[in-house]
Amino acid sequence: MVTVQQHRTFGRSARLEYTGYEAPGCLPESAALLNAYVPLNPQVSTPDERLPPMNTSSLPAADPSRLLREIRVEESCLDLPLTRQIIQRAGALPLTVVPEKAAADPEAAPYPGTLGAGKRILYLGRNRGRFLKPCPATRVYNCCDYQVLNIGAGCPMDCTYCILQAYLNNPWLTFYVNIDDLWRELDQALDGSPHQPPHHPPNRPPHQPPRPFHRIGTGEFTDSMALDRLTGLSALLIEKMAGRTNAVLELKSKAVVLNHLADLDHRGRTIMAWSLNSPPVMQTLELHSAPLETRLAAAAQCARWGYPLAFHFDPIIYHPDWEEGYRQTIRRLFAAVPKERIAWISLGAFRFLPELRSIILRRFPAATFIHEEFVPGLDNKFRYFRTLRAEMYRLLADELRRHAAPHTCIYFCMESDTLWREIFGHTPAERGGLPAMLDTAARNILP
Ligand code: SF4
Repeated sequence: MVTVQQHRTFGRSARLEYTGYEAPGCLPESAALLNAYVPLNPQVSTPDERLPPMNTSSLPAADPSRLLREIRVEESCLDLPLTRQIIQRAGALPLTVVPEKAAADPEAAPYPGTLGAGKRILYLGRNRGRFLKPCPATRVYNCCDYQVLNIGAGCPMDCTYCILQAYLNNPWLTFYVNIDDLWRELDQALDGSPHQPPHHPPNRPPHQPPRPFHRIGTGEFTDSMALDRLTGLSALLIEKMAGRTNAVLELKSKAVVLNHLADLDHRGRTIMAWSLNSPPVMQTLELHSAPLETRLAAAAQCARWGYPLAFHFDPIIYHPDWEEGYRQTIRRLFAAVPKERIAWISLGAFRFLPELRSIILRRFPAATFIHEEFVPGLDNKFRYFRTLRAEMYRLLADELRRHAAPHTCIYFCMESDTLWREIFGHTPAERGGLPAMLDTAARNILP
């Protein structure tokens, strides 16, 4: 049962208590529990049946909603339809109503000390800015011209390397419930409404008009599907995009929450994507995420339902036996998933904002990968030396090309022409540009 505590101001009556660090290698779940995968039930069809009120203790390990301990909702959002649905699905999770734009407790430990506890609190609020934005890329590296659908911020999982630790300054998981504004903005963008400012990524020359095909993703400031058990948003987005012929949606995740997607009329317009890494990285640095076999089983299930697929090896992390680790993941990927269904696979070596290093050292003092040698890039992020990046990219690209279908676009996320030429033998511009390469890859796989 949901208890509403009217007008309780977070920060006065409730205080975040940081309960300690979670060191890499100390996953709380047993291996057996991590591998638990709830069988899918294709008979259920209504949204409420597909997403029944949750009992956090019985959710599978691959569903990070089980980690939530509380919901806070902005007062003005309490009566929005999506808020009501989320509260209904939340079962016995405690609910607190807070003032508009409530801030984290100023007396609690400063961010990121509050992050571990903040990841257990879901804040339902209003997006007062824009939902749809160009990916925050830079001019100096090849960007894929993605559009980010900003559905919220923060993530209940806790990857040691997560860039969001340095990017955000609020410990809570924020999810925007003013979904009517999202639909309005999305429709305007996809209809090419004159009221919509043109989509103009930072690395496109100003004279170039916006392209007529849109690749949209929700996984920039959060994980696309980590909170789907409660929000059900992916199902709504999938059905919305099914009617669009000038766009594809990519849902990118490290979680597995699929039950509500089984019988949707998606018309191939949503690409289901999972991030992958070498087994030791997934086991020790991606806390509370779904294990490799669970992600691959989910991808195979989505392929059977007719969804196109994508995978992201990002961040590629240098570690002992990295060669065998990444080879093993690639072998298991192609053993589990039909290669014909894969639209694209991205590669991106670990890179980070300077502030991230101290946050990782503070939150995960046993992490060793952050002590490697890094150099500042032209975008002010630290990266591995180019020779090491090239060595890692070459191994992964060779292995992927050995297995992948010819139509699958294998590409770098945010890399220079020099590395493109060195590894792939051409620059994106010589193939029409990275955005055009990915548009073609999407169109090749659409029904
Ligand atoms: S799943 Fe993604 S967003 Fe979530 S903690 Fe890991 S890297 Fe960050």
